[in-house]
Amino acid sequence: MNIAILTIGDELLNGDLTDTNTTAIARTLLEHSLPVHEASTVGDNEEDIVAALQRLASTHDVVITTGGLGPTDDDRTTRAAARAFERPLSLNDKALTQIRAHFSSRQREMHPRNEKQALLPGRSTVIANPDGTAPGFHLQSKRADLYFLPGVPPEMLAMLDEYVIPSLLKRFPNPPARGQRVMSVFGLSEPEVEARINGSNLPDGVELAFNVDFPMVQVKLRARGENVQKLLDRAELSVQKALGDHVVGIDSDTLAGTTARILSTAGLTISLAESCTGGLIAKLLTDQPGSSAFLERSIVTYANSAKVNCLHVARKILDHHGAVSAECATAMAKGVHATAHTDISLAVTGIAGPGGGTVDKPVGTVYLAMTSPWQERVERFNFSGNRDQVRLRTACTALDWLRRLAMSRLSGEEQER
Ligand code: ATP
Ligand code: MG
Repeated sequence: MNIAILTIGDELLNGDLTDTNTTAIARTLLEHSLPVHEASTVGDNEEDIVAALQRLASTHDVVITTGGLGPTDDDRTTRAAARAFERPLSLNDKALTQIRAHFSSRQREMHPRNEKQALLPGRSTVIANPDGTAPGFHLQSKRADLYFLPGVPPEMLAMLDEYVIPSLLKRFPNPPARGQRVMSVFGLSEPEVEARINGSNLPDGVELAFNVDFPMVQVKLRARGENVQKLLDRAELSVQKALGDHVVGIDSDTLAGTTARILSTAGLTISLAESCTGGLIAKLLTDQPGSSAFLERSIVTYANSAKVNCLHVARKILDHHGAVSAECATAMAKGVHATAHTDISLAVTGIAGPGGGTVDKPVGTVYLAMTSPWQERVERFNFSGNRDQVRLRTACTALDWLRRLAMSRLSGEEQER
């Protein structure tokens, strides 16, 4: 089955509005194993809508449109549909009843203009709009089933669920099952990820796709047919083998979510001292419910005076090595540990840019330091990117250090048992 989406509206073409309807429809259809083959957008020009409808209805089995069903003059989809398929508009009693019911249930007067919304192309079926005034409609051309839905996202989605999907599944029962699994990877570039996976044995019938969701690389595994989940399980295992502990999450898992979960499971507590990230590491961790189980504190020390006052970083470290140095990062980690007494203390200091870089320490120079009974670690990084990217990469690297240490504690405990 060949499905097309047509979104209609000038504001989609002049940059005023992001077309979220296409994404929402495509996602919902895919959940029912109904993939979309094409998506187009046209403005509110009637000729353009007629042409787009005729083209899509001749090349696709299903066309789903959104927008332009309202009562105002700039809503031209219904008229265009009537012209495109030579079905003159006529008053649809069912539609009129629904529009009247909408107003009376809200104790509101109906404006005569709203009657216009009951004028539908001949031989079309009304699609009830439980939340708004504009009813949708369904009509059949020579090849295609066409579904016309309003532009307002929640109304459109309700009608998609209640009418369009059952109607599609009636026409095309049992579409081959499809599935997708997303693996989030940190610490490898896109080509590195691809090179490693290419050497691994993916089961037949699994398709691979890559994309960057900064700073993660996402590996998407797609399969269809019977036993999709088993196939995806096997593929996930092979990719996991190829990428090892660079895999930080599956599907909706995030690096912060995974880190939080592992810290909680391992029963570890942490404290943070943040400079260039300005609290971002703590933000990402406290986004996770239950983070009080492991996060004791995060101190944001931006100025040198704060590093001295709150973390007892020695003046001489700042004078000799500067605030962006391995020595300062280490002193910050030890400083927060001295009062927090957590299992792990981690500190970051760096130059996020755009100003502040020097020849020795250009923008993107970041030091991370971590102290714990099991591991002492300090490292310099030279991150590229703009201010937001440097800060996000720094925060994610910090989370990754915590995740790795907590994982090694968990597997250590396993071995001790
Ligand atoms: P109405 O009865 O509200 O006029 P309509 O079917 O005529 O409904 P439009 O006028 O085209 O729909 O759009 C109504 C509103 O719905 C827009 O102002 C916009 O907020 C939202 N909308 C329309 N199309 C989209 C789209 N493709 N993606 C996201 N939102 C949209
Ligand atoms: Mg409108």
